[in-house]
Amino acid sequence: MDLTEMYGSLGVSPGVLAYGQAALERLKNRFQAIDEIAEYNQGKVLHAMQKNRVSAACFAATTGYGYDDVGRDTLERVYADVFHTQAALVRPQITCGTHALALALSANLLPGDELLSPVGAPYDTLQEVIGIRESPCSLAEYGVTYRQVDLLPDGGFDFDGIRAAIGEKTKLVTIQRSKGYATRPSFSVSQIGELIAFVKGIKKDLICMVDNCYGEFVETLEPSDVGADMVVGSLIKNPGGGLAPIGGYICGTEACIRRCAYRLSAPGLGQEVGANLGLLPALYQGLFLAPTVVAGAEKGAIFAANLYEPLGFPCVPNGAEPRHDIIQAVELGSKEAMEAFCKGIQAAAPVDSFATPLPWDMPGYEDQVIMAAGAFVQGSSIELSADGPIRPPYAVYFQGGLTWYHAKLGILLSLQKLVEAGLVTL
Ligand SMILES: *Cc1c(COP(=O)(O)O)cnc(C)c1O
Repeated sequence: MDLTEMYGSLGVSPGVLAYGQAALERLKNRFQAIDEIAEYNQGKVLHAMQKNRVSAACFAATTGYGYDDVGRDTLERVYADVFHTQAALVRPQITCGTHALALALSANLLPGDELLSPVGAPYDTLQEVIGIRESPCSLAEYGVTYRQVDLLPDGGFDFDGIRAAIGEKTKLVTIQRSKGYATRPSFSVSQIGELIAFVKGIKKDLICMVDNCYGEFVETLEPSDVGADMVVGSLIKNPGGGLAPIGGYICGTEACIRRCAYRLSAPGLGQEVGANLGLLPALYQGLFLAPTVVAGAEKGAIFAANLYEPLGFPCVPNGAEPRHDIIQAVELGSKEAMEAFCKGIQAAAPVDSFATPLPWDMPGYEDQVIMAAGAFVQGSSIELSADGPIRPPYAVYFQGGLTWYHAKLGILLSLQKLVEAGLVTL
């Protein structure tokens, strides 16, 4: 069986494969640049593990209170070194990215303080955390106010608006690196650095937090290298490397992280408690693999843009522009096309390939959401997945792929399903 026949057995027609191979020919230089970033970041992770003397003893399971958990404490020092911060909180008890972000915010904002987002509306699930959409236990309920400055029409920062929005009460600035479910550009680390320098130039003691979800290891620098006081993310996205079964991280200044630890466990207990429940081998090994996994996912995202854009579907980012996260938005223009796309991603999965994704109501999201994923870790979005809210412009957000080859198959199959549904002609 040759490769064309192998793809045929997986459901990809020779025409779709040929269309894909032609797109790939044009991407050689970009893929090489991605490999070079992955190589650098692999070195960064290895250096942090060696410096902190990671050993087999770090993999031991602890239960109960988890006092003196060497593996947990070492992993946190490794994360702090990878992100070049004073401290880190990396825990399976942080259940997801939203939890990590809610923790970082609620630990560092007190009643009467104001939170500012200078980059437009935050990710859907954070709107309830903040209280933009009313929710019990939101920051608003505890007397933390919120201000937002939208991006300019060209996607740039509204520096005048931001200056005007920073006041007496402004305590913490939240910057979302990745676009999430918006069709705005994601920010480069250097843009984030510029924004942080600007706001700290206006008010020196502002705490700058970056929602780093989906951005880790895409560049050689992280937001914490350019002035962020906290970087926050999920372990079932980039830094878990597909192996972490749960968890979140916050890396940042000693002062911020200490408060996060007290908020996560209890005042007085902080970072001293929290058993690792035997999850540490996956957390260490996932971090070790993360630079490579992120590179594969990024190649998949670029491939998708270069497949769909020439067919007339707007892509964010477009096929040529630089990347700052692993998410690819493809505006498909209709609910039917979103369903066909997701069907293809699902059919390519190693797990649950036989399932059909359908739009559904999801907690934390305002519109119905369609999700395609056949993952080893439920809900993992560093594994190949596609999702999006059913609302104009009917964009699917495509991300992940533990290997580039799997990402490639998923994208080819998504196109195959659109062709079969008569929504695209090659
Ligand atoms: C995924 C994501 C979150 C929330 O993470 P969950 O793990 O899904 O709770 C927050 N912000 C951004 C930009 C994200 O992509």
